[in-house]
Parts: sequence; structure tokens; C-alpha cells
Amino acid sequence: MFSYRHAFHAGNHADVLKHLTLIATLRHLMHKDAGIQFVDTHAGAGLYRLDGDYAEKSGEAADGVLKLKGLPADEQVEALKDYLSMVASFNDKGSSRVYPGSPFIIQRLMRHEARDRLKLFELHPTDHKSLTGNIEQLEAGRTVSVARQDGFEALKALLPPPVSSSGSRRSMVLIDPSYELKTDYYRVLDCIQDCLRRFATGTYLVWYPIIPRPEAHDLPRKLKTLCSQVKKPWLHATLAIGRATGGDDTGLSASGMFLINPPYTLKPLLNEALPVLEKSLGRGPGQGWSVESGG
Ligand code: SAM
Repeated sequence: MFSYRHAFHAGNHADVLKHLTLIATLRHLMHKDAGIQFVDTHAGAGLYRLDGDYAEKSGEAADGVLKLKGLPADEQVEALKDYLSMVASFNDKGSSRVYPGSPFIIQRLMRHEARDRLKLFELHPTDHKSLTGNIEQLEAGRTVSVARQDGFEALKALLPPPVSSSGSRRSMVLIDPSYELKTDYYRVLDCIQDCLRRFATGTYLVWYPIIPRPEAHDLPRKLKTLCSQVKKPWLHATLAIGRATGGDDTGLSASGMFLINPPYTLKPLLNEALPVLEKSLGRGPGQGWSVESGG
């Protein structure tokens, strides 16, 4: 436990898929005026340096967000353009030194007038400290909270969300574990089951790695079964960048996002963006993308 540090992976292809999907989901949710409770159960440090030791050592952003720089305007389809402008908004013109993690992406889009709230959980002592410091700089007051707690457990007390000033209950939850422990796969399933019992109309986003391990393969299948049992719509998107021929890279080459109660606008946006991502980020054999939905 605690050997995972997101700073090594910030801005990689998995972050591109996750954050592009997150932004497209947030944009849709914000069409309605009523306030939303956002929860990020595995928040990380919040902000990352792409020119720092961690990122430079791993070089993962080079096969992710940095490869998308300079994409011709006609290939910058809506969701991709939105994602790239979000990243650009954290940097001086033309530079790519800073990469925003999910807490900062969500916070950037939150609405003061709607009284949106963001609850962040991070267990790693160093990342929790960085996250706390980064969030303090925002001077966001009570709108954003950070706790060094187990995100799976903490979520239970937050659902159903409080009634907003316009009388409705709305929540979006991002569940983005590191899957360092095999038990994370089972915990995600138990957590989603519990969330749907507590608040069936919430929007839930789960990221997972596509790796040759039965638990990883089974997770989306089991989530689909769960959704059909409770008759909830779902969307499953994957992006694989493949392996360079002759390359000796053994790092993560594919990942997926599974959403429950996804916005209806998401599927067409991903169908448009993922082929561009595959073309831009693909390295060779095994590259591909998929979007499927049901319920
Ligand atoms: N969501 C972040 C983003 O997109 O910018 C990245 C999060 S990273 C993939 C996963 C984080 O979860 C790590 O920083 C890890 O320390 C933390 N973590 C691991 N187990 C946890 C748990 N049970 N509760 C809260 N945080 C946990």
C-alpha cells in the first residue's frame, strides 16, 4: 500500500480518457441550475508538475496529453477541445508545465451561485498534504473539503446528498482507485452497489485499468450486470494505445471508464473524440477504442 503516486502518471493516456469523460459529464450536469454535491473518493494531489522529477522520470505524459499538443484544429472535436482548453487554462500560454488532477478540474467548473460542493478524499500522507496545500491556495472556503479518509467508506455518509436550495438532490461521484491492491476491484463493486441503494439517481464514474488480470477483466462485466439488475443506464468507454513494435514498454497501455446514469450527450461526444485519441496516441499493435451503453 502507498507505493502508488499519481505524479508519475499524471497526463498519461488514462488521465486523458478519464478527464475528458469527466469534463464532458460535468458540462452536461451543469445545464440544470440546481446545486450538485461532487465527491472524488480517490483525489490524488490535485495538481502535478509535468516538468518535475516524477513526471520526467516516467515520461508518461509524453504518450498522453503532451502528444495532443498541436493537434490540427479540424481534429479538435468538441470534447477534446474542451479537455485541452481545461489543461491550457492551468498553464501560461504555450507552456505545459502543470497538469490538473480531477479535484482541480471539478473545482474549476463548479458554480458559486448554485452552491455546488466538492468533497475530496485522499489516504496517502504526502499526497493528502499536497492536496490540502493546493486546495488552500484556492481560498474556496467551505465549498471544497479535503479529508485523509478511506474514500470508499467516507462516501457512505454523503449519500443521499443534501437537498439543494432548489429542492432537489444531485450528486456526481468519481471513483478512481489506484488498484494497487486486488481488493480495490471488489471494493468498487461493493461501493457502487451501496451507492445505488443509497442514491439510485446519482451519476457515478469509475476508472479502471485494462490489464491481464481476471479482476480487471471482470469489473466492467460485473458493473453491467449490477446496472441491469437495478435497471440503471450505463456507458462503458475504453482507450488502448497499444505497444510500439520493438518497444520494451511494460507500463499500462489501456484503461476504461464505466459510468452509471451517464448524461445522454456523452456517447456521441466520445464516439467522436475516441477515434481521434486512438489516432493521436496509438503506438501500434493492440491500439483501439470502444464505447458501448445499455439500460
Ligand atoms: N483522481 C485523481 C485524478 O484523476 O487526478 C487521481 C487519483 S490516483 C489514480 C488514486 C489515489 O487514491 C492515489 O493518490 C492514492 O494514494 C489514493 N488512495 C488509495 N487508496 C485510497 C482510499 N482507500 N481512499 C482514498 N484514497 C486512496
